[in-house]
Amino acid sequence: MEVKQMTKFNPFEVAQRQLDECARILNLDPDVHAILRVPMRELHVSLPVRMDDGSIKIFQGFRVQYNDARGPTKGGIRFHPDETIDTVRALAAWMTWKCSLLDLPLGGAKGGVICNPKEMSQAELERLSRAYIQAIHQFIGPDKDIPAPDVYTNPQIMAWMMDEYSKIAGKNQFGVITGKPIILGGSAGRGDATARGGICTLREAAKECGIDLKKATVAVQGYGNAGYYGAYLAKSLLGCKIVAVSDSKGGIFSKEGLDPEAVRKHKAKTGSVINFPNTKAISNGDLLELEVDILIPAALENVITEKNAPNIKAKIVAELANGPTTPEADDILYKNGVHVIPDFLCNAGGVTVSYFEMVQNFYMYFWDEKEVHQRLDRKMTTAYHSVLDASKKYNINMRQAAYVVAVERVAEAMKLRAWV
Ligand code: NAD
Repeated sequence: MEVKQMTKFNPFEVAQRQLDECARILNLDPDVHAILRVPMRELHVSLPVRMDDGSIKIFQGFRVQYNDARGPTKGGIRFHPDETIDTVRALAAWMTWKCSLLDLPLGGAKGGVICNPKEMSQAELERLSRAYIQAIHQFIGPDKDIPAPDVYTNPQIMAWMMDEYSKIAGKNQFGVITGKPIILGGSAGRGDATARGGICTLREAAKECGIDLKKATVAVQGYGNAGYYGAYLAKSLLGCKIVAVSDSKGGIFSKEGLDPEAVRKHKAKTGSVINFPNTKAISNGDLLELEVDILIPAALENVITEKNAPNIKAKIVAELANGPTTPEADDILYKNGVHVIPDFLCNAGGVTVSYFEMVQNFYMYFWDEKEVHQRLDRKMTTAYHSVLDASKKYNINMRQAAYVVAVERVAEAMKLRAWV
């Protein structure tokens, strides 16, 4: 299929290109392909919100339901000044593949509101959150479409949204949204779920690559929720040595290994990981090219490109971040024998525990943290091996393999429902 040159980065065009490549590998039915290239349904809303100064401001919001062949749709809500409908469409598509890959009985969705939460008071944020739910409530529901937190939205915002939906429904509807505070039906184990899921796939990848994790060195780019827990769990659960970590201000290196918890405390106190005692300063660029066994990008997209991919020395790249590797870099890493655990497999622990939250809300019965961890491990391990098997079967890289597994399942569901 002709791929037109992109002038401005458009995530939805990227998502469509990835699907096109997968369709080629799978020899996908053209009718199925055509349906999967576009969102099933989308809602655009204008939200009048009373600001603290008494004025009314109109915010633009979206909710995109990409495909629900395998079940109700699921995906986060972003509050961001640069939100665009194409970003929301792309993220909704990726949620469809992620839920399918983890074999969750869910389709994919995403929502967004163009706003800058950093410039809004808590009261304004609450009114905006409630206005968004008033505008989309007929579109969502516990067995229809279940939102969750994403960029700049959090458990408090989920609590307001759940409350607004429950008021409209005339009864408590905790199951309408996930990522809630535990006291309002949130799940144990949600905090570190993304990194913990990634660590399960890393453990399996190390077996595949013949790496002894107890002797392995690790570099982590980004030290937020994904990066910190990634470093902490790689050390505490797998016995790895964390030799380098970074954040937006720069990186630190220690041949002897870092204590992730001590680094977290230092960052909490000083605002950054840099200047942590007894470490050498390194740049974010240098961190990616370090002589380590495992590299964990856990910050931004597009950091491993065709320029630095030839210099990556890690044997495994575990993508906790979304979209850290460009397609050109993917080819280079594959040729060089680097084992990439692709983002929508590696970071799927978050949505998996969100799904567990839904299940527990339906049950009205809650699991303890140990049970959540065990169930998460089983899901992640099974998904990793389904991708590895497809990669060997079709002789393709792990990202293409993840697409193949995910898209094949959605296509089969559509065929069985006689949509095509
Ligand atoms: P976060 O905001 O908690 O942390 C981001 C970290 O990246 C911070 O330490 C920040 O300083 C660092 N950073 C920013 N710019 C950087 C730069 N130029 N170089 C190096 N570091 C930089 O975010 P998070 O939730 O940890 O998310 C990180 C990545 O993981 C994102 O790609 C996100 O989409 C992905 N992810 C997160 C979750 C989750 O549950 N948190 C789930 C799926 C995917």
